[in-house]
Amino acid sequence: MASELQIDYTCATSVNGLYAAGDAATRELICGGFTGGGSHNAAWAMSSGYWSGQSAATYALSLGEKAALRSVRGVGEAGLQGAGNNRFSPEDAIAATQAEVFPYDRNLFRTATGLSASLDRLNDLWQEIRNSQTPADIQIVRSREAAAMVATARWMYNSGLQRQETRGMHKREDYPQQDPNQQYRILSGRLDKIWVKPESAVAKRELVAV
Ligand SMILES: Cc1cc2nc3c(=O)[nH]c(=O)nc-3n(C[C@H](O)[C@H](O)[C@H](O)COP(=O)(O)OP(=O)(O)OC[C@H]3O[C@@H](n4cnc5c(N)ncnc54)[C@H](O)[C@@H]3O)c2cc1C
Repeated sequence: MASELQIDYTCATSVNGLYAAGDAATRELICGGFTGGGSHNAAWAMSSGYWSGQSAATYALSLGEKAALRSVRGVGEAGLQGAGNNRFSPEDAIAATQAEVFPYDRNLFRTATGLSASLDRLNDLWQEIRNSQTPADIQIVRSREAAAMVATARWMYNSGLQRQETRGMHKREDYPQQDPNQQYRILSGRLDKIWVKPESAVAKRELVAV
């Protein structure tokens, strides 16, 4: 979650040895800003699955005997152990995130007011997760999935706020027209303090470092 970003056509991400495919990567490369329903999405899932699998195998082979000698450490924090003493409930976090991303009047028909209000709540939720401990009886995968949902919702709505036009699946009721000057992808990243930039403004070096 911390730094998965597809950076090239081998489906590599900014994490060495991690490759992304299908919906977990992005569909944008094949269907742009709209849904590719009617075969494109499935084609992308299968194609990128093939490419990423091939790339991962090539990477693994390139490590050879050195594979077991690598010094690796977990970098994940959110949804594991936070700073405070609150008890983290993945189910509550999932429900709270769904309350922001499911309603049509928040996610499908977007306004700056609505997106900002959702972001306020999602940012509070993120802080709550950061300040919570995950009890031993909760499955780590579940708590990491819940934290990932909150992070993704925050990336979505920060990017949505920045795109002040209607394009593809992104419908802004306060900006109902498409703006030819905004014909670029918007990238976002980081966790606590999220950045959002037009793709052209993000240097390759910066992408790799996210
Ligand atoms: C209602 C709907 C209609 C659609 N119609 C079309 C269409 O007509 N044409 C088209 O091309 N596309 C369509 N799509 C999109 C298409 O289904 C997706 O793009 C495609 O399925 C993505 O494949 P994927 O393998 O990347 O992800 P998924 O199909 O979502 O597969 C991910 C799998 O990972 C599993 N998983 C998740 N977390 C974990 C975990 N922690 N451990 C183990 N397993 C886990 C999930 O259970 C799931 O089985 C539609 C999607 C929806 C929702």
